[in-house]
Amino acid sequence: MAICPICEKGTLKPVQEKHVLFGVDLGTYPGEKCTQCGEVFTDASVMEKIETTAKKKGIWGLGKKTKIARAGNSLAVRIPKEVADYLKLKEGKDAYLHPEEKKIIIELD
Ligand SMILES: [Zn+2]
Repeated sequence: MAICPICEKGTLKPVQEKHVLFGVDLGTYPGEKCTQCGEVFTDASVMEKIETTAKKKGIWGLGKKTKIARAGNSLAVRIPKEVADYLKLKEGKDAYLHPEEKKIIIELD
């Protein structure tokens, strides 16, 4: 039985793992889960399948780096075009913003 390369204590057991990206369900895929630390290992061929599914759903590469800019007394975040298009965001749309532990959540109607 394979030993976990992360904690080096647990052993790896085959599991079916649900993969979610940006809140979108990409399906359930085989992997191996450590009995100690719970780390899940997915092999390269499975990762490729997951990537293909994410691309089909139009969400691959939607996570992007952005810079906080100044806008008067407030700060502004530029929303990349790809993300705006995916969410069908338009200028002037109402949104509700709130902090959440190292995140900013912007809720859309
Ligand atoms: Zn482990």
